[in-house]
Amino acid sequence: MNTISEAQLRKIELLKLSGINEIFTQETEPFSKEDYLQKFETEYQDCANCKLAQTRNKLVWGGGNADADIVFIGEGPGQQEDLQGVPFVGNAGQLLTKMLTAIDLSREDVYITNIVKCRPPGNRNPQEDEIRACMPYLEFQLSIIQPKIICALGKVAGNVLLQCDDTLTKMRQKFFPFSSSKLMVTYHPSALLHNPDWKRPAWEDMKMLKREYAESR
Ligand code: SF4
Repeated sequence: MNTISEAQLRKIELLKLSGINEIFTQETEPFSKEDYLQKFETEYQDCANCKLAQTRNKLVWGGGNADADIVFIGEGPGQQEDLQGVPFVGNAGQLLTKMLTAIDLSREDVYITNIVKCRPPGNRNPQEDEIRACMPYLEFQLSIIQPKIICALGKVAGNVLLQCDDTLTKMRQKFFPFSSSKLMVTYHPSALLHNPDWKRPAWEDMKMLKREYAESR
């Protein structure tokens, strides 16, 4: 069981998230990463820090292995995810599972989340104020999980995380330094469902991810 190190706790405290620090500073025993994520999710399950709270059914924090070396980040929950409270469970989620299987990984090996945790109405892109309001939660999750590799799914997630406005083509097929992790950007699975021609380049990205993962172990 991986527990939170002193260094991680110091980093989390530096996030200066109002309220979130209290979750940690009150603890005297080592907790697992999973424990910390669960405590955090319970604490903030009623978040109404942006307008997406008014239209969501369920807040979707993320899911998978809190000890994962790889974290996938999409832009926001879709319809099925909003109904079930679970990330990537619709058609796009099934394709993501297949993409993982193709590189010998399972959903249990990775952690999957989104830039915003509540569904933007009609699956529109999350807006700047919504991203700003929700970003501390993602920063918190990454501080706990400490993945070696982050894979942004789609242009929106890539642009937000890299703080740029580059095209997906320009962001693909390379790793960027990202805090203590390496970050790559590939197609969002829902884009692949609509554009089957992109599956071949997406496969190239998955192979690059697999190589980096193997080298990081
Ligand atoms: S999108 Fe994020 S900030 Fe907005 S209500 Fe949901 S959890 Fe809170």
